[in-house]
Amino acid sequence: MAASGTDQLEPEAIPSESVRGEYENLADLVRKYRFAYYQEDEPLVSDAEFDTLFRRLEELEALHPELVANDSPTQEVGGEVSAAFAAVQHLQRMYSLEDVFSLEELEAWIAKAEAGIAKVGNHQASWLTELKIDGLAVNLLYRDGKLIRAATRGDGTTGEDITHNVLTIKEIPQELSGSGFPAEMEVRGEVFIPSKAFAEFNEALIEAGKAPLANPRNAAAGSLRQKDPAETAKRPLKMFVHGIGAREGLAAASQSETYRQLEEWGLPVSPYFEVLAGLADVLKFISRYGDKRHSLLHEIDGIVVKVDDFATQRALGYTTRVPRWAVAYKYPPEEVHTKLLDIAVNVGRTGRVTPYGVMVPVKVAGSTVEMATLHNQDVVKAKGVKIGDIVVLRKAGDVIPEIVGPVLALRDQQDPPVRDFVMPTECPSCGTPLAPAKEGDVDIRCPNARSCPSQLRERVFHLAGRGGFDIEALGWEAAIALTQPTEPEVPPLTTEAALFDLTPEALAPVKIRREKRSKGVGTGEYELVPYFYSKGTAKTPSKPTATTDKLFKELEKAKTQPLWRVLVALSIRHVGPRASRALATHFGTMDAIRQASEDELAGVDGVGPTIAAALTEWFAEDWHVEIIDRWAAAGVRMEDERDESMPRTLEGLTIVVTGTLEGFSRDEAKEAILVRGGKAAGSVSKNTSYLVAGENAGTKMDKAEQLGVPVLDEDGFRELLANGPAAGAADAEAVPEVSDDDGNGPE
Ligand code: NAD
Repeated sequence: MAASGTDQLEPEAIPSESVRGEYENLADLVRKYRFAYYQEDEPLVSDAEFDTLFRRLEELEALHPELVANDSPTQEVGGEVSAAFAAVQHLQRMYSLEDVFSLEELEAWIAKAEAGIAKVGNHQASWLTELKIDGLAVNLLYRDGKLIRAATRGDGTTGEDITHNVLTIKEIPQELSGSGFPAEMEVRGEVFIPSKAFAEFNEALIEAGKAPLANPRNAAAGSLRQKDPAETAKRPLKMFVHGIGAREGLAAASQSETYRQLEEWGLPVSPYFEVLAGLADVLKFISRYGDKRHSLLHEIDGIVVKVDDFATQRALGYTTRVPRWAVAYKYPPEEVHTKLLDIAVNVGRTGRVTPYGVMVPVKVAGSTVEMATLHNQDVVKAKGVKIGDIVVLRKAGDVIPEIVGPVLALRDQQDPPVRDFVMPTECPSCGTPLAPAKEGDVDIRCPNARSCPSQLRERVFHLAGRGGFDIEALGWEAAIALTQPTEPEVPPLTTEAALFDLTPEALAPVKIRREKRSKGVGTGEYELVPYFYSKGTAKTPSKPTATTDKLFKELEKAKTQPLWRVLVALSIRHVGPRASRALATHFGTMDAIRQASEDELAGVDGVGPTIAAALTEWFAEDWHVEIIDRWAAAGVRMEDERDESMPRTLEGLTIVVTGTLEGFSRDEAKEAILVRGGKAAGSVSKNTSYLVAGENAGTKMDKAEQLGVPVLDEDGFRELLANGPAAGAADAEAVPEVSDDDGNGPE
């Protein structure tokens, strides 16, 4: 791995016993982990953890070179040959790759390699830059264009014969097409499972009641090393070429030229490689693929940069483990292992009870994660996780962290022993017996919507959201402080109806439980601290904090929000911003909505029967009506001021806004459409009258073009608002009912 990380280390004096001890333990551990990874396709630790151990081993060896034995893991290509397969000798050795874990390390590596390249007389290095495919290396031996044998990398010299399994991969040609093949040629490549096929394969396993595969790399490795080729044939395997071993009579002078030649002969070559001039271009490549690493055909864990020219590759040569002419830059890890300490349950806004994993905090994809949802008890079962397990935790980019599954091989070693998760039968927040909303539902709910503190906390948090009253000072912690402080016993809010009756004085005694921190790190000890007021001393009396002042200002402002936002704030099932806007535009007042029959509600464009039923059901509860009445009494505006002077120029038109507009936020653009009698829709369909496209408009533009929907820029939009459509503009039809659970939906 990264020699660049250890190069600078100066050898130290004779290693002490404790250093020798650390070194030997580490080397044993690395051997054990390699065995589990390569031989059993079932890693015991995450790659990131393995890489850290390996680096430490390299570091100790750089400090104490006399520790290095021939059988040190740093001197060998990881992997052995399992007795389940026949051993085959590669004609030319297969190597691993040197890894670097930061852009600085990469820069240092390239600078050093360029100096080496200059020394061997080649001044202009070209860097073949490609994706590091997360799969399993194979070596394909072709003689006179015929596939003779396929093998795994093994220890680099000897691999496992997996010819029968490789023959099941359709795109690997048994016979090359064309002519001019070398007498003998070893083609190296990576076998992988495409990301989409992996997801589908796992879904099918779960449906069949089997445990899903942990990740595409182990799945590919496991699939290729099946004893029965018929089993391999069932797996959606693919391969891309990434190298060449022995080659007798191959004319190509560079790796990229070889790729083109191999492609001509029918071998699968990756569409993603590029030959680049230097570091600056390589960094751009890394950044580009870092951004889209999850929308590629396959998983990648980094980028490989290789000297393109064969003569220079030969001149630079190899260490015992890696070529000196190639390096792998690894992206920050997205998969780590951690301990699942507990499975707790959360009660959501509509009472849905959701299990979630509580883990030993761990850094993954740039953030520290200690909790991840497990959705429902069926998911807990399907993933096969037990409390106390070591689990694989995955966080891909900005995606929500996910517990992938347990590391089964470590289950027996856990102390205390692992135990099954049992779904509680009573609400952990209010003690009410839990039940599914209707028979056969997977989700169970707490039926105590009115006074379950958890549900209230979630509703209060929701009503302050950006789509609701937009009260920034009322975030998650404030919602907890308002609805369930540890002190006083009765919290300031036992119903959201009282929200606008809150007074600063009522908040003075509120304390919350908070972890004590020392130098920014949690200590595991807790204390009660005032939340809305400063602590106060003998000299300075406790007073409302700046956030508390802001909260009351924002509450005042919230009273003047338009009607649709009040509707969103009420947490009515299925009623999100879209339906709320449709209702507010159609009825104009809360009273009119309340008095409308279910049929009338269902008849509104963008509402429909499901939302209408939810509204009717909601208004039938007295405590719900009380919320509206108390908010209205406190001064919350329950009707939209119709600007009668505003010409209804957009009556009957459906307009979609996409991209960034200079003069309007997304909400302002929508308001401008609605007050002129138009409909603002979220996606382009044949019913769309216009697409308004700002900067960075994405796929909606393509859709509009496909469907022949006219596209307007910002000036065109202003023109449309002022004067309405030109004569003969498309007549919009009714907007179909849409699910309105777009992040502001019920849970
Ligand atoms: P490597 O995976 O870091 O790099 C070498 C391999 O990369 C090659 O053999 C090849 O198979 C593959 N590769 C993918 N795309 C390539 C491309 N475009 N060009 C060239 N090669 C490409 O090295 P390694 O020795 O196979 O494995 C070491 C890595 O494996 C570690 O860094 C660690 O992440 C992982 N590992 C994990 C454990 C564990 O317990 N979790 C144990 C051992 C190894």
